[in-house]
Amino acid sequence: MNGYRIGIDLGGTAIKSAIFDANMQPVLERCDPTEAAMGPQHVLHKITRIVQQMLAELSISESSVACMGMGIPGLLDPESGLSFFSPNFPEWENIHVVNEMKQAFAFPIFIDNDVRVNLYGEWLFGAGLDSKNILMVTLGTGLGSGIVVDGAMLYGKTASAGEIGHMNMYREGRPCRCGSSGCLGRYVSAIGMVRTFTERLEHGAESVILAWTGNDHSRITAQMISEAYDTGDALAIEVMHETGVLLGFGLSNAINLLNPELVIIGGGMSAAGDRLLTSVRETVKSHSLQVSSQACRIVPAALGGEAGMVGAAAYGSRRLHSSGPSPFR
Ligand SMILES: [Zn+2]
Repeated sequence: MNGYRIGIDLGGTAIKSAIFDANMQPVLERCDPTEAAMGPQHVLHKITRIVQQMLAELSISESSVACMGMGIPGLLDPESGLSFFSPNFPEWENIHVVNEMKQAFAFPIFIDNDVRVNLYGEWLFGAGLDSKNILMVTLGTGLGSGIVVDGAMLYGKTASAGEIGHMNMYREGRPCRCGSSGCLGRYVSAIGMVRTFTERLEHGAESVILAWTGNDHSRITAQMISEAYDTGDALAIEVMHETGVLLGFGLSNAINLLNPELVIIGGGMSAAGDRLLTSVRETVKSHSLQVSSQACRIVPAALGGEAGMVGAAAYGSRRLHSSGPSPFR
């Protein structure tokens, strides 16, 4: 198939944009701040400008572009191109992303959930190559997941399948924006782990991080907890372990339900690596069905921040020739 493909990975803090050639080789990439607080129209106009500038920089005409794929956080309808709700964006409700973008561009444009787009990237070009049953979990500000079963991306009736972040772990736990409480993502995410850490500090626990932040709890980050872990800080080790165990229990439930051969852990917080994954693997081994856990590897994502862009572009390409929202059946 001829033509360039454009992949956009829209995140709460950064818009990652890339143009690929017909062989899916990257030609140009850039990263810009999202400026989410300025509202949805500002963000969409900004993406339009970025794409126009990239095409101009490469002297590529619009008619040479086969398609554009976009990954967008939150709940959306991939068929109509309507984004219902996005947790990272204020006032982002019922935004018709595809129609808005079509006002500027003549080539076909497709949207999907950001985690699924990341999973397309890892599945087609990264850690998930040659696998037919994959669960991907992205640990960032929140916890997202995407699921491939028997070689097909799972969408469900309202394209909201895979919301493992809202799996209930405690009957009455921390309140969640979904309306429930005790959801996995409220504990296993950058924000969740930091919250667990600060709760312990408020109960009198000690940590080297108190000196690093001048006792200002609002400055604590997930990365600091990793760094404190490496210095042997007892509280950091305890909180990292508990977070990993809780993720392990959530994954055990998912593994029993889905029987994946591969669990890919991505997102910024996956930089914690084995500090987190050791507890995850131990918990999965002891709490999921043996036949399932023995067949399942838990690995870090391979493409890092590139997965969303390449996955979005590949998703757009496949959508060109498929009728439904799941182009990989
Ligand atoms: Zn929830």
